[in-house]
Amino acid sequence: MGDLELHLLIADRWKADGGLMFGVVPKILWEKQKPADANNMIDVACVCLIARMNGRVIVVETGIGNKLSEKRALQVALREPESLLHHLKRLGIRPDEVDVVITTHLHWDHAGGLTRRNQEGEVELTFKNARHFIQKTEWDFALNPDVRSRPSFIADDFTPLADGNKLVEFLDGDAEVLPGVHVRHVGGHTPGSQVLILRSGELACAVTGDLVCQTPHLRVPWNMSADIDPLRVFEQKARLFEEAELHRWLLVLSHDVDQPAGYLEGGGRWRPEPRLL
Ligand SMILES: [Zn+2]
Repeated sequence: MGDLELHLLIADRWKADGGLMFGVVPKILWEKQKPADANNMIDVACVCLIARMNGRVIVVETGIGNKLSEKRALQVALREPESLLHHLKRLGIRPDEVDVVITTHLHWDHAGGLTRRNQEGEVELTFKNARHFIQKTEWDFALNPDVRSRPSFIADDFTPLADGNKLVEFLDGDAEVLPGVHVRHVGGHTPGSQVLILRSGELACAVTGDLVCQTPHLRVPWNMSADIDPLRVFEQKARLFEEAELHRWLLVLSHDVDQPAGYLEGGGRWRPEPRLL
């Protein structure tokens, strides 16, 4: 895409509760598109992006990683943890060669891969030389979440970035962190949720995070029950969709298993981009 080399990948496959994914949307509507198993669980993926741009390597989203307890990994039927590192290796990129890492927020299924458990059982940073851009509001909330959000944050995922490593750079709202690499603060799902927009000339790719989890969430009022501010989610989604359709942005959705990337066309139609899969 212009100067941008994009590699889209699925870092983990797992299962999430249908009610968590679709909130108050009646099951009779969502299950036609995302069938649930006997435990009401649906298939989800952690979608990540590796981008090369002007000689820099950028990783967007890091998935769950390898630190989940055996019990928790079984509960969510986790498969293929650490495939982000395998894909990097296939591209000939060592983790210490990654320049910039951006996760859309600090929930366990997006920030888990920021750190990993090594062979000695210790938690270490995955990308030891990268700059990590995080909204300050997200960091503060992740350290002190409300009672409902508490299980969604695991301190080991992100606190080592600040422990003397100085790899975290806090943002206060929208920013251009490298030429062509734009972060948009959207909030809604969490206080510091951000959308990443990579631009090359007129072309752009937007990584939505949990603002848009799966293709059924391309409807503005279909949101997750985990959102702390649903009305803000609707507002920011409507804005993003308008721009994406008008300027033909490639959208990358956070958790879709079948069609995670594509273009929005008139009337809310989704044209998947299969070449990226
Ligand atoms: Zn998520």
